[in-house]
Amino acid sequence: MDKQLQQDESRLSQLLDQVKEFTIGFRADDERPAGSTLQTIPETRLPDLGDGAQDAMKVFGERWNDYFVASPSNRYLGYVTGGTTPAALVGDWLTTALDQNPQAVKGFGDVSAAIEIATISMLRELFTLPDTFNGGFVTGATMSSFTCLGVARQWVGKQQGYDVVKDGLRQPISILTATPHSSAVKCLAMLGIGSRNIIKVAALPGREAIDVEDLKTKIAALNGQPFILIASGGTVNTVDFDDLNALADLKTKHNFWLHVDAAFGGFAAVSPTHAHLLTGWERADSITIDNHKWLNVPYDSACWFVRADHAPLQVATFQNSSAPYLGDPATDFNYLNVGPENSRRLRALPAWFSLRAYGRRGYQDIVERCIETAALLGEQLAADPTFELLAPVKLNVVAFTLTSDDVDRVDALVQRLNDRGRYFLSPTTLFGRRGLRAAFVNWQCATSQAEEIMAELHRALQELPPAPAAAPP
Ligand SMILES: *Cc1c(COP(=O)(O)O)cnc(C)c1O
Repeated sequence: MDKQLQQDESRLSQLLDQVKEFTIGFRADDERPAGSTLQTIPETRLPDLGDGAQDAMKVFGERWNDYFVASPSNRYLGYVTGGTTPAALVGDWLTTALDQNPQAVKGFGDVSAAIEIATISMLRELFTLPDTFNGGFVTGATMSSFTCLGVARQWVGKQQGYDVVKDGLRQPISILTATPHSSAVKCLAMLGIGSRNIIKVAALPGREAIDVEDLKTKIAALNGQPFILIASGGTVNTVDFDDLNALADLKTKHNFWLHVDAAFGGFAAVSPTHAHLLTGWERADSITIDNHKWLNVPYDSACWFVRADHAPLQVATFQNSSAPYLGDPATDFNYLNVGPENSRRLRALPAWFSLRAYGRRGYQDIVERCIETAALLGEQLAADPTFELLAPVKLNVVAFTLTSDDVDRVDALVQRLNDRGRYFLSPTTLFGRRGLRAAFVNWQCATSQAEEIMAELHRALQELPPAPAAAPP
């Protein structure tokens, strides 16, 4: 065995102590910029003879450490970015240490698939979803929707009398949706359904949610053809929810697959005052939830939920050609036959730890603190003549702009704010207007941040060159 390998294993305790120190320092670092400052990628050569993990840690510190952003902190409000709870960190470390490959519950001498199923059960409770949904872990909401829409594709084929998995697509599949997340469109591309087969349903005036009357018209035009409806359980800009109850009602009259992308909006179910936004989602065929957002487990983690009575279609879609040692896909449950991956890590463990450690109340507190902070920031922006909300704050995302509507100045403001390093926000375009958005999903989110963000916005504005005077009439 290589000498360094042997030495490293014998010094593992000291190495891990070092990593522990680094981890604690990183998490407590309140000065670390929230925006990236890396300009060029340093040249990196493969050493012929390595110097062991201690040396790798030293070089890592010198070469990369300064450029890591505080994305797991509550100062990072870009995209929809969660952090890592202490228990999730513990679970994730153990996932690596245990290095299991969750597949079947029985017959492989491995408890990891059982842990995954147990974690799914806790998540169903958290979301008050019925146990008529099966669930599993994938890398992100994109792969969750890929899994769900893959089963939906098989379902449509079956309605049309053929087997998509075996025959390939013989007929175009119609997708109805109003404001799909970009990743859903990517899934349609990956699944060979094709993004041009999206039939855009109108959104309600000034909203991102489906206009149910327009949906009915679009359904009528399909003349009874089966289709897939992609619904939003929280859009990224205004966190608008389709009327899931009304959509589910339509299933009694029309033959379609209802998929709900509730990547982060699904966590509204954890707050008794907001759970009504999801009424009806329990009647969907499939649901996407992202764990590395509001569950605050580290990347990469999301879940698919697919109705258990669709399990045969799911196995037909994802079964790994039947190697005899893997059992019978029809009767022996194996994660390898129900999702896109074969070998996979025990991605459920960080979620198991965090759910076990903080329970329903712990998550209710996180979710409601984020909602409250977003509402406060919304109020303060609305009261400030320099700013204007682009949409009412519905849940945990605040989309806003400068009252002046000066596109260049809006972009300069985001840039300046992010360069300052205290906070990170994403630019956005909503209803044709350029703006900024702040998304609150971090477990450390504090209501006092609203005021701090306002002050930081004004500091960034003051640092911009003065706006050009209005052109004379
Ligand atoms: C974040 C998000 C996704 C994509 O999630 P990834 O984890 O990046 O794959 C999909 N849908 C919605 C609504 C999201 O917010």
